[in-house]
Amino acid sequence: MQIVADLHTHTNVSTHAYSSLAEMVHAAKQAGMLAIALTDHGPAMEDGAHQWHFANQSIFPRVMDGVVVIRGMECNILPPMGAVDPIEYKYYKELEYVIASFHDPIYKPATVEAHTIAMEGVLRDPVITTLGHPGTPAFKFDYEHIISRCNESGKIVEINNNSINVRRGCQENCLEIARLCKKYEVPVVISSDAHIAYQVGKFDNALALVEEAGIPEELVINSSKERLAAYFRTIRGLDLFPDA
Ligand SMILES: [Zn+2]
Ligand SMILES: [Zn+2]
Repeated sequence: MQIVADLHTHTNVSTHAYSSLAEMVHAAKQAGMLAIALTDHGPAMEDGAHQWHFANQSIFPRVMDGVVVIRGMECNILPPMGAVDPIEYKYYKELEYVIASFHDPIYKPATVEAHTIAMEGVLRDPVITTLGHPGTPAFKFDYEHIISRCNESGKIVEINNNSINVRRGCQENCLEIARLCKKYEVPVVISSDAHIAYQVGKFDNALALVEEAGIPEELVINSSKERLAAYFRTIRGLDLFPDA
């Protein structure tokens, strides 16, 4: 399976990541990506970006270095009801791609029931597009309850390459989630979660997992230019490739 866009990446605006916007875009080009989403951490994270960072992403040229650049954010799920970072709604709603993830500096791991209630809140948020690294072992939730509701709430599920590398115990949760995505025909996105330019476009673990789960290519929104374009047209009315 070919992946044509990396939709989860961090620049050094999040200070635990190390490459500039230009370096990330260039790396995407080198990796053969047609598009990249910049998804720095929301302001609730200690080293997250200020809300003005997100407000001002409109100055990004749509195409940089031959790569389509998507204005995004990885927001932090907050306890107890799954609200996310407090950024002004007028900025938040303009974001083109919004990942919601549990991060333990922000949400102290609790019970499966508590995490599930928070995820229900995520499903209700119309701006969020994607459930980020949902297989994180410390944040188990009722996978079937949430995944089976993704289509009605318009959410997609991320298969996060970095998670499989760095979060011990993620593999089996991620596989269970991927199998549920197949069962309920929930679209998935394969992403690197790169924190340095050298990780952009690296998807080996995520691809292997998707294959093991038997997810068909048609369910992977970034497996072709046409699917990627159709996804952003549907969720945001955005034409990523107007000259195509
Ligand atoms: Zn994250
Ligand atoms: Zn991330």
